[in-house]
Amino acid sequence: MPSNQELFERAARSIPGGVNSPVRAFGSVGGTPRFIARAQGPYIHDAEGTRYIDYIGSWGPAILGHAHPEVIRAVQEAAVNGLSFGAPTEAEIDIAEALIRRIPSIEQVRLVSSGTEATMSAIRLARGFTGRSKIVKFEGCYHGHADSLLVKAGSGLLTFGNPTSAGVPPEFVAHTLVLEYNNLDAVAQAFEQHGNEIACIIVEPFAGNMNLVKAAPGFLEGLRELCTRHGAVLVFDEVMTGLRVGPQGVQGLTGVTPDLTTLAKIIGGGMPVGAFGGRADIMARIAPVGDVYQAGTLSGNPVAVAAGLTTLRLLEAPGFYEQLAIQTRKLTDGLQARAQAAGVPFCADAVGGMFGLYFRDSIPTRYAEVSQCDTQAFNRFFHGMLDHGVHFAPSAFEAGFVSATHDDGVIQHTLDAAEDVFETVR
Ligand code: PLP
Repeated sequence: MPSNQELFERAARSIPGGVNSPVRAFGSVGGTPRFIARAQGPYIHDAEGTRYIDYIGSWGPAILGHAHPEVIRAVQEAAVNGLSFGAPTEAEIDIAEALIRRIPSIEQVRLVSSGTEATMSAIRLARGFTGRSKIVKFEGCYHGHADSLLVKAGSGLLTFGNPTSAGVPPEFVAHTLVLEYNNLDAVAQAFEQHGNEIACIIVEPFAGNMNLVKAAPGFLEGLRELCTRHGAVLVFDEVMTGLRVGPQGVQGLTGVTPDLTTLAKIIGGGMPVGAFGGRADIMARIAPVGDVYQAGTLSGNPVAVAAGLTTLRLLEAPGFYEQLAIQTRKLTDGLQARAQAAGVPFCADAVGGMFGLYFRDSIPTRYAEVSQCDTQAFNRFFHGMLDHGVHFAPSAFEAGFVSATHDDGVIQHTLDAAEDVFETVR
């Protein structure tokens, strides 16, 4: 049986950094990533046969727990009928209708294969619809790796950003305005200066890519009002929060209605599916009806759609989200109590089946506060928990995820481990 270390060394010879997505490499926490051989319910098992309680959940999709038998059966049944046709299927209509039924702001929806494709396409659509070029995003929000979205804030309050990746020409992000999350004044100022040039605001309505940072009261309402007043499109990127924080995402919790919504992760049940949808008059601009081009060889893939549809159906079980939120709160309240007992500056927050752990005294509301978290303390916590068989995200800046299979026993095991580990974090 090869060890994780042997696999990592072998992987690094053929795959850059040994991984197919950067955060899997344990870059900020150090050490050897676990190579996963199989997963079931709340557990992942690595190549060495060690079992971990998993709070990553494939970075969001695994809301039912890993390898839910009904999802696996749906995938098997779809696969025997063929893997991909490049022609429409009835199941694509079923999943489109399922999304429209659940999320009232979505009148029409187009399927893609990832969250990145969803946000990239939504932005192209917003630009095509408005005939404008500029977009607004917020520092700390991640919307996938499309060129115009790989931007960090400039030095001033209201500046166009700089690329965060080599290979993105500055001209490609020259139309991307990067503002502070939860700072409505900055957005109002941007619209004052550039109002008739701004095609859209794209926002994680609750951010999950700078740890968990919820929108302050009035922030999303203010974005809605400014977009309406200035004829810009409001895009909620609910790739992470959609069907995770509640059945209708953050828009269902806050009552703020975006013009377009992007989805992925949970709607594919662990398979590659993304989607963007919203107002019918905007969606009508997408090819082949309209003049905004968007396409995909594997879009609406029948096997992926089968996993997604089954997942969406299972999420409708009565009380599903209430129970998920209860379990998540047991985790965050329990961790907070144990950190406090150990005298570690720490707090935690949760919404639905999503949580944030912050090694600081108060829950952050913006990126500058998140970046003040004690990353050394987080790293000690992360490795201590891993040694106790609990796998959190390997970064102080990622949200965590609880599934329907994280029962009281699983949470208690986590809290017992944390009681020991916080003593070593101090
Ligand atoms: N948008 C958000 C909010 C995300 O969290 C992510 C990925 O984590 C993406 C977009 C990109 O999705 P994908 O990794 O499927 O391309």
